[in-house]
Amino acid sequence: MSAAGTTEVDIAIVGGGMVGASLALALAGTQRRVLLVEAVVPDSDWQPSFDERTTALGNGSRRVFETLGVWPHLAAHAAPVREIRVSDAGHAGAARLSASGQGLEALGYVVPNRAIGRALWQQLAAQPALAICNPAQVTQLRLDREAARLLIGATAAGGGGGGAVEHVTARVVVAADGAQSLVRAAAGIGAELEDYEQVAVVVHVATDLPAAGIAYERFTPTGPLAVLPLADGRYTVVWTLSPQRARDVCALDDASFAVALQADFGWRIGRILRVGARAAYPLRLSRAERMVGERAVLVGNAAQALHPVAGQGFNLGLRDAALLAEILAAAPDPGAAAVLEDYERRRESDRRGMIGFTDGLVRLFASGRPGVAAARNLGLALFDLAPGAKRALSRVSWGFGDEAPRLLRGLPVAR
Ligand SMILES: Cc1cc2nc3c(=O)[nH]c(=O)nc-3n(C[C@H](O)[C@H](O)[C@H](O)COP(=O)(O)OP(=O)(O)OC[C@H]3O[C@@H](n4cnc5c(N)ncnc54)[C@H](O)[C@@H]3O)c2cc1C
Repeated sequence: MSAAGTTEVDIAIVGGGMVGASLALALAGTQRRVLLVEAVVPDSDWQPSFDERTTALGNGSRRVFETLGVWPHLAAHAAPVREIRVSDAGHAGAARLSASGQGLEALGYVVPNRAIGRALWQQLAAQPALAICNPAQVTQLRLDREAARLLIGATAAGGGGGGAVEHVTARVVVAADGAQSLVRAAAGIGAELEDYEQVAVVVHVATDLPAAGIAYERFTPTGPLAVLPLADGRYTVVWTLSPQRARDVCALDDASFAVALQADFGWRIGRILRVGARAAYPLRLSRAERMVGERAVLVGNAAQALHPVAGQGFNLGLRDAALLAEILAAAPDPGAAAVLEDYERRRESDRRGMIGFTDGLVRLFASGRPGVAAARNLGLALFDLAPGAKRALSRVSWGFGDEAPRLLRGLPVAR
């Protein structure tokens, strides 16, 4: 963004992280005039969405990325998960879910967020009809019956200069600006917050047994510990701890950190030889009370931010984006109340199902009560013997909704 001025668009997307960038790409091939505003340069060290984390993409998300032409740029970075092994620390219950048992090539794919950011933004840069403001942030938003009016200022974040201000009028504004969404607040939509009082410590480790397609989920008294394969043979670890213990382990030197992690996780992945930089994420469930307001609509973390226990937050947000793109592309007025309410209604069952599934899993495995622990272990043992339950779980990565958006069916957004 250079000169000051006023711009009119059909759709303004605020936030070009994982979900907003995917939505912009999905809409790029349509007749809509689309503007994407992202505060931080995508490949900078402080980009909050495309950071050192990895994302477990379900098969549904892979299909969406294939349809959008992104997958060929991700495939080399994606580690297929061919088996998931679940265990409950201190108890005998355990279960395995294999891709081959479900007739699948993989249960999902672990991809570094940075690779996703690079692939999405390279594709966005190749869309001549798409207007992009980056680095720039929406600082004010007014919504009324006719339009969304945005004030956009350049940011210093990621190397921008600052200074220029632009006024934009849009028929609809999309909140893809994350859990602390400014757009959601401007639309007067509240969010229920539930603090899990847990912190996820994320780190990559190298061991003397290179990763080979097996993912581990171990439920410990402090929370779940996920160890996922990376394409380069290392593992990525998401270690959920109490806030105090997270602070303590983050302060350890690498060798002591490896010993502490090995003590909680065991030796299933061999001896930990090297640990990378650690990053900590406080975990809370945030659920917007509505997904739509006047000339405003929410996707991804702005609508709901989940505990990472089941690796579903982005997968759910991508399905938000896939359906929204389809609806906005087809509607005569993309910001009309009836259009936005149609989106909210059609996302309801997937959203409710996935929030309930994730939150239920956190609570079930957090309980130390003897009766709950025994039932949980019986449940794991029964699950291990039940092909129907395994089939049902392997379908979770396609979502809980009754209908699959076009992108999920391999079809382009516009008819
Ligand atoms: C430890 C951890 C592990 C996870 N693992 C998985 C997993 O394996 N699988 C999975 O599906 N999900 C996972 N998730 C969830 C996933 O990371 C989120 O669902 C996803 O990042 C949501 O993306 P988003 O684009 O909605 O929001 P964000 O990632 O928060 O992006 C928001 C973007 O908006 C920009 N922005 C904010 N305000 C403004 C403004 N005013 N103007 C302009 N731009 C703005 C920000 O710079 C940012 O780029 C995990 C989460 C955590 C914490």
